[in-house]
Amino acid sequence: MRLNFDPNRCYSCKSCQLICSFHHTGAFWPAKSSIDVYRNQQNGYVKWSVDNTCDDCVNEIETLCVKNCVYGALTSGVRTVAQDREEKS
Ligand code: SF4
Ligand code: SF4
Repeated sequence: MRLNFDPNRCYSCKSCQLICSFHHTGAFWPAKSSIDVYRNQQNGYVKWSVDNTCDDCVNEIETLCVKNCVYGALTSGVRTVAQDREEKS
């Protein structure tokens, strides 16, 4: 399983980052997530990335980051290591 990220649907809510940390640690601990989401409050610039600690949600029933992205920005597909976008304000 791989992840596909659609920058046009991401609102930098960080739900994916939090649920991924929960998968790894059992706690909402953003620093321990495979996903990093950063939004520049000044210009709305968003950066989303996933690193090589992603284990494809082994032992989970569903892919948690995909399931918890309510905006549909994440789907199973081709992994995108890092994508940036300019967010419309
Ligand atoms: S990918 Fe989805 S869950 Fe993650 S920050 Fe963007 S909108 Fe939120
Ligand atoms: S598939 Fe699972 S381990 Fe990989 S980034 Fe998504 S939540 Fe994290």
